[in-house]
Amino acid sequence: MTDTQATRRDTIRAVVFQGPGRIQLCARPRPSLASAADVLIAVEACGICGTDLHILENPPGHPATPGVVLGHEMVGHVAEAGPEARGVTVGDRVVVAPNISCGSCAPCKQGAPSACLSSSTVGIFRDGGLADLVSVPARACHRVAEALPARVAALTEPLSCVLNGIRRVRPMPGEVAVIHGAGAIGLLFLAVLGAGGVRCVVAEPVALRREAARLMGAAATVDPATADVRATVSALQPGGADLAVDAVGSQFGAAVAEVRPGGGVLLFGMNSQARSVIAQNDITRREITVHGAYVGEATFPAAVRQLESGLLRLDPVISHYLPLERAQDAIDTLRSGGAVKAVLDVAGSAVIAEDSGERPLGRPGVSGFKQKGALR
Ligand SMILES: [Zn+2]
Ligand SMILES: [Zn+2]
Repeated sequence: MTDTQATRRDTIRAVVFQGPGRIQLCARPRPSLASAADVLIAVEACGICGTDLHILENPPGHPATPGVVLGHEMVGHVAEAGPEARGVTVGDRVVVAPNISCGSCAPCKQGAPSACLSSSTVGIFRDGGLADLVSVPARACHRVAEALPARVAALTEPLSCVLNGIRRVRPMPGEVAVIHGAGAIGLLFLAVLGAGGVRCVVAEPVALRREAARLMGAAATVDPATADVRATVSALQPGGADLAVDAVGSQFGAAVAEVRPGGGVLLFGMNSQARSVIAQNDITRREITVHGAYVGEATFPAAVRQLESGLLRLDPVISHYLPLERAQDAIDTLRSGGAVKAVLDVAGSAVIAEDSGERPLGRPGVSGFKQKGALR
């Protein structure tokens, strides 16, 4: 469907969260602008992320509003703009930063909008991008070049989160990093760190994902169930890695053990159940720095520029590019471990893309996906 067709429709297709564990592809009335400062986006593509899987667990592993349209990793064109919409105009191609902070609570005023006390999230608490049209605040939109493939542009949101983590640890070319987890997030860390001249060891139990890491230039890939990650790191750099990234959410202890004295640990993966036993003195005596990082609105512009640059090799990340109608298939395949990252083609070219072999790692049925919280 072209933007024009989507814009003219009286009804739209939408993937709606129906309550614990259930989604449904529904026909809905064409949405109107939610506020005068909103724009209506004709969605081209929208990614499915680990948070969506958590929302669809039963009981849910992440809250969401029943009846809401899912999808928070979207790219599309502005089809309509409210009278108070600033910064973008009709026809602009944009990606959307989905976490809408209020700007007036204490954390917002302290420069920590990711902890906003009255935030809303597009695709979780208000309607999102797994639909032909969606109303979002104009201030959440970031213009993106027409030349960037829609499925790659849909990676802007997870990449912005990854950049928010990386800017805290300030890696240097020539350094060695170990990354735990090669889901979409772990692979985006690999892409960015690798492009910056950092040599990366990737620890991941699922073969499909280790293969993606290998294709993306990992210095070494390791199955932590059968091989010694620390020994692999030490073979690259005696004394340990300069940086350890936990993109799983439960690898704090391993990360501390794998970095050199003075090294850094970045805790990024989310697993609210994980309780790590840490030898605290190991952090003190070896002067290790521990960082936490979650989401970052301020890194959206850099994420857009980085994707537009073409510097990152990201095809192995997107294992599945499927039509909107196959949302349930995409979720099932992600959950069974047969996918790395699934992006849904909302605007309608997915069938063509699928038939032309745009799925370098699309092998539904491979088992795995045992890690929780490795994506967001
Ligand atoms: Zn706030
Ligand atoms: Zn996400």
